[in-house]
Amino acid sequence: MFRIGFGFDSHSFEEGKPLVLGGVLIDFPKGLKAHSDGDVLLHALTDALLSAVGEEDIGQLFPDKDPQWKSAPSSLFLKSALERVSKKGYEIINLDCTLIGDEPKIAPIKGKIIQNLSLLLGIDRTRISIKGKTREGFCQAEGIACFCVVLLQEKKA
Ligand code: MG
Repeated sequence: MFRIGFGFDSHSFEEGKPLVLGGVLIDFPKGLKAHSDGDVLLHALTDALLSAVGEEDIGQLFPDKDPQWKSAPSSLFLKSALERVSKKGYEIINLDCTLIGDEPKIAPIKGKIIQNLSLLLGIDRTRISIKGKTREGFCQAEGIACFCVVLLQEKKA
């Protein structure tokens, strides 16, 4: 038995805030505007995992009006989603994330991000795909968006 989940998130840039992508601190002059650390990749991935097992979404579980999530590391949201996936009897087969934005370039940093996701998720890095796409003039907003799809399978008894 398989389940598929899809997640999306986007945040605009904020000057002087650290940029965190996939739980990795990126050397870049701008961060992402958000109540939490603004980790657009972990937010999309968390939502993909939650929706794959029919749980409420990240905004319902961790409301941005709730002071306890102010500047929270998004790995907390991911950990909670993973626990829900496991409790429902599923494990990750693979995941595929596409980051959209003109900067920073994803190719030079994706190895580090995949390595960190591999640790956070407890899966081999060969099961994780990250790629970057530039906007090509499509959208005027200055920031980063992320699409993420995840495939789960029922854990063997
Ligand atoms: Mg978000």
